[in-house]
Amino acid sequence: MRSGPYRMGINCKRDTFPRCLRPALLILTIISLLCSCSRPRSPVFAITHVTVIDATGSPPQPDMTLLIADQRIATLGPSSSTTIPRGARILDATGKFLIPGLADMHVHLTGAGEPAGSREFILPLLLANGVTTVRDMGGNVEDLLRLRNEVTSGIRPGPQIFFTGPYLDGDPPAYQPSMVVKSATEARAAVDRLAIQGVDFIKTQSRLNREAYFAIADESRQLHIRFVGHVPDRVSASEASQAGQASIEHLTGILLACSSKEEQLRRARFAPDPGNETQAQAHARDRAWRRELLDTYSPQEVEALLRTFVTNSTWQVPTFPIMVHLGFVTPKTNLLGDMRMRYVPQNVKRIWFQGVQAQLENYSEADLALREEIVKRSLEIVGKMQANGVRIMAGTDIAAPNVFPGSSLHEDLAYLVEAGLTPMQALQASTKNPTEFLGKLQKQGTIEQGKLADLLLLDSNPLDDIHNTQKIRALVLRGKLWDRTALDGLLVSVEKFAGAN
Ligand SMILES: [Zn+2]
Repeated sequence: MRSGPYRMGINCKRDTFPRCLRPALLILTIISLLCSCSRPRSPVFAITHVTVIDATGSPPQPDMTLLIADQRIATLGPSSSTTIPRGARILDATGKFLIPGLADMHVHLTGAGEPAGSREFILPLLLANGVTTVRDMGGNVEDLLRLRNEVTSGIRPGPQIFFTGPYLDGDPPAYQPSMVVKSATEARAAVDRLAIQGVDFIKTQSRLNREAYFAIADESRQLHIRFVGHVPDRVSASEASQAGQASIEHLTGILLACSSKEEQLRRARFAPDPGNETQAQAHARDRAWRRELLDTYSPQEVEALLRTFVTNSTWQVPTFPIMVHLGFVTPKTNLLGDMRMRYVPQNVKRIWFQGVQAQLENYSEADLALREEIVKRSLEIVGKMQANGVRIMAGTDIAAPNVFPGSSLHEDLAYLVEAGLTPMQALQASTKNPTEFLGKLQKQGTIEQGKLADLLLLDSNPLDDIHNTQKIRALVLRGKLWDRTALDGLLVSVEKFAGAN
């Protein structure tokens, strides 16, 4: 019945337009239809007068305005020429800097007191520190799927989660959860199973034997799924790169590959332990091995290795926070003096303290000095990687002991700058690069019109000093604003949880 007057209206309109103008009317109608289709369904939210550091590598763009709707950056343009729709919520960001939300490419969300732990401890800390994307590098598929579903369905605020599921490792495995694979057949079956379960990547661990490792590589290639992780102890970094490992974590196998005595030193690693060795003697032997590793560092080997990485697109996730704070604890690791301990649950805190204590008691000054040298050399190599075109991504290995969820990612960015990356390159290691690696750069990872609105508003310019990424004024998570008060609310909730658990 309503169709009558409606049709009449159309007819009236037609009749009032002379025939010569009808094509123009048609065009106007099409334009208005197109506009109504792309008109945001959710209210528009505007960030005005902000300096945009879009992470594409372009210079900062001052005095820009963004219109955000339907989780996306609907408009991005100079403030002078961008019209803000009536009724839009406006955040005046004069004097502030906008960067994309950050990605931590090496986390373990379900490692610390799951099921509640990550939800009350890790996830809010990630958001409070501007982390909007994570790659989980080891956990149970079911736990991770459940967690990811909670986030994607909007039940729980959290970063986008990509994950590997359990580790594939040798016998006995180094960590849990692991799938032990000792032969090519077992390795292929494990890859098949994980692929069916829907993991984003296959994760390799240090104790895999060569047969299993290369079978993982081959099966992954056949199933078009990428494998990432440690370079196993029995495989060289350059072999891993040739085999197609997509990302190498923690620089595993790299120092060894930079030695002119790589094979000799690897064999020494697998030599049977001399019996009746005291702990001090064992440490001295290990120290001598590491000393030789550093002393046989060869710039030619480094060059060849980096060329291999570039040729095969082998990405690197150095994870300096775990290297410095757990792998190579020194007296500088001062947990007692760290204000962030208030966010760490009591039961987790206890484990962290005990671990640091044990390391400091059991290692000598000589061990600790050597550790600092290894970190320094690792930084140097990462600087060379960047300079030679090896792709680098930021990562932390949370919630490993002494590695604080969220804030440790900012520490990693600072280490990357110390290694020789420019602040822009370090930012890209946590924004554009991970998104490219994940195959999502068309839709997110930089600040461009049409892309997902995962954004971080900073009080100071991170290109002047990378530590300024820590001066977070607000977060935009998939288009939703979390101002400083909301972020502080997250921190308060974690502190309460930590105090009670
Ligand atoms: Zn890890």
